[in-house]
Amino acid sequence: AKKHGKDKFEMFEPGMRVAFQATIDMESDLRRAVVRHEFELRYQPIVRLNSGEITGVEALIRWMHPERGVVPPVEFIPLAEETGLIVPIGEWVLREATQQVAAWNTRRSGRPLTVSVNISAVQLEHSVLPEIVQSALDASGLRADRLTLELTESLLVDHRPETLQRLHDIKALGVRLAIDDFGTGYSSLAYLRQFPVDIIKIDKSFVDDVVDEPTAAALTHGIIQLGRALSLSTIAEGIEHAGQLTSLAGGNCELGQGYYFAEPLTRSDFDDLLFPIDVP
Ligand code: C2E
Ligand code: CA
Ligand code: CA
Ligand code: CA
Repeated sequence: AKKHGKDKFEMFEPGMRVAFQATIDMESDLRRAVVRHEFELRYQPIVRLNSGEITGVEALIRWMHPERGVVPPVEFIPLAEETGLIVPIGEWVLREATQQVAAWNTRRSGRPLTVSVNISAVQLEHSVLPEIVQSALDASGLRADRLTLELTESLLVDHRPETLQRLHDIKALGVRLAIDDFGTGYSSLAYLRQFPVDIIKIDKSFVDDVVDEPTAAALTHGIIQLGRALSLSTIAEGIEHAGQLTSLAGGNCELGQGYYFAEPLTRSDFDDLLFPIDVP
């Protein structure tokens, strides 16, 4: 039953109170999750479009909540950023992803895989990020140029001199930097001049319409050519159909990922994909 009058939350509407309480519950849940290691990574293959070869993986976090089951990142990354919990969570992601991919590379006979890790603006604000990245590389034995850090354009909006310097410090470790969701922000082109970027990830919203919409197709192919002119790799996100693959590969987009190839896979499913004859 609802309480009225002297209720200490009386300045809130009942719906707001529920939302407020839910945020507090979720924050303590998330703190517990960090302590109890309730996170797992999924690995989505990144594929060379003209050959189908898997060249790398993007690591994507999931929260294995004891009651709610698998919680996707959109439902907890914003809170993790507000509370600063993204710093320990992000460090765990870096360590886990580099460790796992280094282990796969040791077992594999083919060309070594690269691994892409999403980095939040809040992590970049911390001066220790270059040390954390170096430490993850040292602990895993992964070669620096096989690690890509994915930064969103919104992250790059804040270009305080320290942020730019930190990106250069990270770049100096030998890792690659990618602009994620390219084309969705307001000054994508300016970022290409200011930041030491190696890879452009073409946002899914362009890929979605690349077959049916001439404007989306022209923009997508324009971004690919821009990448070539600047000697950057281009990765198309969210490829779901053969028609999109044909259009992108025809336009010389180098790499891609999406459900057409594979969803983000558990470690064990990715293992089966890499080592199909390895029956236990
Ligand atoms: P993102 O970096 O743009 O990742 C791509 C998202 O698209 C992933 O969602 C992936 O599962 C999904 N996706 C891939 N292929 C397809 C497709 O063909 N169709 C559709 N509809 N979706 C596809 P996910 O895993 O839910 O991640 C959402 C966002 O959460 C990511 O977007 C990224 O911004 C953030 N995120 C994920 N993991 C981390 C992490 O470890 N740290 C941080 N800071 N952010 C993360
Ligand atoms: Ca990403
Ligand atoms: Ca993206
Ligand atoms: Ca996205």
